[in-house]
Amino acid sequence: MSGTIQMVDLKGQYAKIKAEVDYAMLKVIEDSTFIQGPEVRNFEKDLQEYLNVKRVISCGNGTDALQIALMALDLKQNDEVIVPSFTYVATAEVIGLLGLTPVMIDVDPGSFNITADLVKPALSAKTKAIIPVHLFGQCSDMEEIAAIANDNGIKIIEDTAQALGAVYTFSDGEQKRAGTIGDIGSTSFFPSKNLGCYGDGGALYTNNEELGDRLKMVANHGQRKKYHHEILGVNSRLDTIQAAILRVKLKYLDEYTAARNKVASFYDQHLANIPGLTIPARSPRSTHVFHQYTVKIDGGKRNGLQEYLKGKSIPSMIYYPLPLFEQQAYKNIGRRIGEMNTTKMLCEQVLSLPIHTEMDEETLAYITGPIKAYLNG
Ligand SMILES: *Cc1c(COP(=O)(O)O)cnc(C)c1O
Repeated sequence: MSGTIQMVDLKGQYAKIKAEVDYAMLKVIEDSTFIQGPEVRNFEKDLQEYLNVKRVISCGNGTDALQIALMALDLKQNDEVIVPSFTYVATAEVIGLLGLTPVMIDVDPGSFNITADLVKPALSAKTKAIIPVHLFGQCSDMEEIAAIANDNGIKIIEDTAQALGAVYTFSDGEQKRAGTIGDIGSTSFFPSKNLGCYGDGGALYTNNEELGDRLKMVANHGQRKKYHHEILGVNSRLDTIQAAILRVKLKYLDEYTAARNKVASFYDQHLANIPGLTIPARSPRSTHVFHQYTVKIDGGKRNGLQEYLKGKSIPSMIYYPLPLFEQQAYKNIGRRIGEMNTTKMLCEQVLSLPIHTEMDEETLAYITGPIKAYLNG
């Protein structure tokens, strides 16, 4: 075991690719192609190929990506957008910012994701879009959700900030990457995400060329031709330096995902059958890229366990401690559907354990030991 245990080890990961990353960064600086340099387009092409999608449009961060996606759909004030109540705030924030109505729905207690059955009661004549968030690294049941969207003329924006690389299998055996199933996929390259850059970054994907043009236009001040602004847009760009770093790291993404899965298997093995602890459920239809390894601790023992682990220098995080609808900023906006009992339960029970690409078995055993001791004791 080496050094302190961290939720993510960005330094350790960098050390292994330092030569390649340093070279790529310095090249951008030497060429001084800081904004929209060739590496931006090159990275978009690489990601297009990786995802097997027609268009990738890079942007400033994952929150911008969601906002740009909604702006490209050309919705009207008070149109409704369905979102999970158990998610990172960015997903709902942009809906509110644009004067649209977030309609918050509960999630499935096993997958932490929305399901078609939970979407149905939220539909209204104003529903224009659904944003499934593939939380912690596993796809929502996209086949069923896409069927509802199709039947009702609703668009889907997949928030894949935590699930880049996950593969979803349809009932006919067809496979697609997360974010390429709905109309638009969005992601974040925040440093701690599965494909993280060394600052802020984000991207959008689509198989619809027309929508692709619109996304690109919105991200660039609403212009196709310089100084000709057709629609309202924003200024959201991926720095060339970040694109160059991401090009290097994308080559290793599958390796990183495999490393995360190895950690998850260790946890699965060593944490199964502990009273009061539930290991994360695996979807039969999606691979898992384990952005987070999140267990549920019942019996009111979650916070005590977290403190106990902290005393042993084992970090853990609560993603997320408050449901969206209980956040001060969201109390008076949007609608919520049903009692949200699962979301409330999850906020009290979830605990995310350290998971990253650089963990060894010794560290993992050091983490699982005290968890067992605390819950068995
Ligand atoms: C990280 C994250 C975002 C936002 O990404 P930023 O790049 O930080 O703006 C959006 N949605 C989800 C689910 C996330 O985890």
